Amino acid sequence: MAMNGESTQQPPALDADILCAGFGPATAGFLWTLTQGLQRPEMAGVESKAVPGLPPQIVCYERADDIAFGVSGVVTRARAIRASIPDLDPAAIPLAARVKEEKLIYLLDPVGATRRPAWMRLADQLCRALSGVLGLEHEGLALPWVPEFLHKRGGFIFSLGQFNQWVGQQVMMSGLAQIWPSTPVAGPLIEDGQVQGVRLAADGSEVRAALTVVGDGPVGAVGRQLDEHFGMPAGHRRDEWAVGMKMVIDLPEDCTLEEGTVWHTIGFPEPEIFGFLYVHPGRVASAGIFVPSWMDSPVRTSYRYLQHFVQHPYLWRHLRGGRLRSWGAKSLLESGRRGEPYLAGDGYARIGECSGSTNVLTGSGVDEAWLTGAQLAEAALELLREGKPFSRENLEAAYVARRRASWLERESQAAERARNGFQWGLLPGFAGMALAGLTGGRLALPRRGEERKPKKLAEYYAGRLSRSEIERARRRAEAEARPLHDALMDLCGWPPVVYDGQLLVSHQDALLMGGKVQAPAEFPDHVVFRRPQLCLECETHLCVEICSGEAIRIAAENPAGVPAFDREKCVHCGACLWNCPVSNIEFCAAPGGLHSAEN
Ligand SMILES: Cc1cc2nc3c(=O)[nH]c(=O)nc-3n(C[C@H](O)[C@H](O)[C@H](O)COP(=O)(O)OP(=O)(O)OC[C@H]3O[C@@H](n4cnc5c(N)ncnc54)[C@H](O)[C@@H]3O)c2cc1C
Ligand code: SF4
Ligand code: SF4
Repeated sequence: MAMNGESTQQPPALDADILCAGFGPATAGFLWTLTQGLQRPEMAGVESKAVPGLPPQIVCYERADDIAFGVSGVVTRARAIRASIPDLDPAAIPLAARVKEEKLIYLLDPVGATRRPAWMRLADQLCRALSGVLGLEHEGLALPWVPEFLHKRGGFIFSLGQFNQWVGQQVMMSGLAQIWPSTPVAGPLIEDGQVQGVRLAADGSEVRAALTVVGDGPVGAVGRQLDEHFGMPAGHRRDEWAVGMKMVIDLPEDCTLEEGTVWHTIGFPEPEIFGFLYVHPGRVASAGIFVPSWMDSPVRTSYRYLQHFVQHPYLWRHLRGGRLRSWGAKSLLESGRRGEPYLAGDGYARIGECSGSTNVLTGSGVDEAWLTGAQLAEAALELLREGKPFSRENLEAAYVARRRASWLERESQAAERARNGFQWGLLPGFAGMALAGLTGGRLALPRRGEERKPKKLAEYYAGRLSRSEIERARRRAEAEARPLHDALMDLCGWPPVVYDGQLLVSHQDALLMGGKVQAPAEFPDHVVFRRPQLCLECETHLCVEICSGEAIRIAAENPAGVPAFDREKCVHCGACLWNCPVSNIEFCAAPGGLHSAEN
C-alpha cells in the first residue's frame, strides 16, 4: 500500500483503492466476488489509483483478534453463497454439513415458571391431554410441517467462524486483498459530505480510499457514525433487536442426533424467546436462543435462559452428558428493511446487517449479508472497468439497483411488516408473523405506535410477585452484587441450575471455557456510561441484566448507583447499547472479545 504522506494536493493521496471495515459474511461475499472478478480477462488492464502500475489495492480491517471470531447459528439456505461458489464442498470446511432433517417444535413449559399467557397455558394442557394423537414427546410437539418461508432445505449448517476463516484464506491466497484482524476502525473520515476512508482506533491514524465498504455488522462504530452524520431515510428506524446466545456442544457418545439435523423452537424458555439446535459433523451441536427487544421484561437476560433451554426435556435427552466446547453471544439488528440506512453515498457503500439485510421472517442473515457483499463487488468491478468514480450516483446505479432487483429486496419487503402483531401482544404477534409469511408479505397486521418496551418491575410481575417480594429480591441482589434477574426468576419458580462442570457451568466459566477474552491495555474502555446521573435514576439497570459477559455489574460498594464495566469480560455483543432505555451507553470500537473460532 502507498503511504499517506503530508501532501497538500487535492484530492488527498489514497492509501488504498478499496477499504473494508469489518470481516463478517457480508465482507466475505464482497472480497470473494471482487478477488475472483479481478482475475477475469476483461479486468486485466485495471490499475490501482493509489499505487499506479499495480492491481487495485484492497484492504480489510477486522476488530476481533482473528477473522474466525464471528458468532452466529448458522443454518442457511446459502442460495447466494452457492451462486458465488457453485462447487462448494462442505467437507472442505470444518463443522459444515448439509441440512438433512428440519423441524419446527413447540416446547411446552415443563417447569411451570414461564410467563405464558392464558391461551398458551391452555394450549399446553390440550397438547398433554391429546399427547397420543398429536405425537407429543418429552414436552415438545414437532409441528407437521416447516412453513415455506422458514425452511432451509438444500442448505448448509456452518460454524460462522470456520466459514469466515475458510473464505478469508481463499481471498488472501489470491494475493489481491489483505485482511487485518485486531484492527478496530474508530469511524469514517467524512469530508465535505464524502467518505474519504477511515480512522483507526489504535492510534487515530487515517487511511484513505476511493471506496469505503462498511460491513461492520449490527452495532459497528462506522455504520452508526454514518447514520448519525447522514441521518436515515424517511420513516426508517432501528428499533428491533435481539441478542443471540449459543453454546457449541460436544454431544455425548450415545447421542442419536444425526449430522444435518435442524430444529427451530418456540414456546420455551419464555414465549418471546425463539431457539435453535443444529447438528454439525463429528457429534457436535450448536444450541442457542434469541432474546428480543420486544420482550417486555425489565430484567431480560440470556445466559440463565439458555441454560434452561438446553435442559428442556425435548433437548436434554440428547444433550445430557455433553460438554461445553464453545460459547458466544452477539446482537442482531432485526429491523430489516425498516432499518435500512442510505445504502450508498459519495465514496462509501453499506453491506450486510448494518445495511438492514437480516430477515426476521426467514430467520436468516448470513446468506443475505453475503449477497449484498457480492452485489457490491459486481458493482465495484463494473465501475473499475469503466474507470468511473465511486460517487453516490454511480454506486446507486451499479449497486443499489442490483440489490433492488434481487430476491433480497422481495423477501425483505415480505418481512417488513411481519413483526407488527407483537406490539399488540403475543397471540397477534404469532398470527401476524404467520399471515405475513404465508402470504409473502401481502397481508400483515397494522403497526401500533411504538415497539413493546420493558415494563416497570411491579407491572411486569403483577399477579406473580408482590411489591415486597420484589423489594426483598432487589436487596438480596444488591447485597450479593448480582444481577436482579436471578433472584426474581428463583421467586417465580425457575429451578436452580445445578452445575455439572461440563455443560452446565457458571457464566464466568462459560467465558473461560468457551470464549476467552482479552482486552489490550493501550485501548480505553469501549463501554462508557454517558451521563452517570441517568444511571442513578434507573429502576432496573437493564444493561446489567442483559450483559452477555457479566462485564457490567453493580458494584457492592455502590449498590444503587452507576454500574461498573470490566472490559476483561466484555464479549462485544453490543446488547448493552440497545437495551439501555435512555441510550446512555457509548459503545466504541475496540479489539478483544471472544476467542473462539467455532461459534
Ligand atoms: C446466535 C446467533 C445465531 C444466528 N443464527 C443464524 C442462522 O442460523 N442463520 C443465519 O442466516 N443467520 C443467523 N444469525 C445472523 C447472522 O449471524 C448475521 O445476520 C450475519 O452474521 C451478519 O453478517 P455481517 O457480515 O453483516 O455482520 P457480522 O457477522 O456482524 O460481521 C461484522 C464484522 O465486523 C466487525 N466489526 C465491527 N465493528 C468493527 C469496527 N469498528 N472495526 C472493524 N471491524 C468491526 C465485527 O467484529 C464482525 O466480525 C445469527 C446470529 C446470532 C448472533
Ligand atoms: S446505562 Fe442505561 S440501563 Fe444501564 S444503569 Fe445507566 S441508565 Fe440504566
Ligand atoms: S458490556 Fe460487553 S458483553 Fe456486556 S452487553 Fe455490553 S457489549 Fe455485551
